[in-house]
Amino acid sequence: MNMTYDPQNIFARILRGEIPNKTVADTEHTLAFHDIAPHAPDHVLVIPKGAYVDFADFAARATAEELVDFHRTAARICEGYGAGYRVISNSGGHGGQEVPHYHLHLLAGRPLGPMLQR
Ligand code: AMP
Repeated sequence: MNMTYDPQNIFARILRGEIPNKTVADTEHTLAFHDIAPHAPDHVLVIPKGAYVDFADFAARATAEELVDFHRTAARICEGYGAGYRVISNSGGHGGQEVPHYHLHLLAGRPLGPMLQR
């Protein structure tokens, strides 16, 4: 994947406070907020505050503190989805990634159907 981080991407601008967001959780290393175009009744994005492009970049370069904070923040939100949930992370062109700042999609609130179209 292209590992050049674009500091003008929309999530970087949200982190700098240049664009508003509907915050769900805000910790030392992690921000979670509602997706602007939800695919399910609950659709939350979880992003690290550091400059990481995608899952592999975050896994390779993040500190242990960032990794723990990120996953535990996401998991705390998921614990509220009693009927189940789905976690998705897109990367690159084939992955359909639109915003080049690492994020998890947390989806819940209705049966989510098959994982992918065949
Ligand atoms: P992806 O295709 O995995 O990169 O997902 C990017 C997601 O960001 C999409 O689901 C968009 O709806 C969402 N999104 C884009 N701009 C904003 C924004 N300003 N606030 C909240 N979510 C956004």
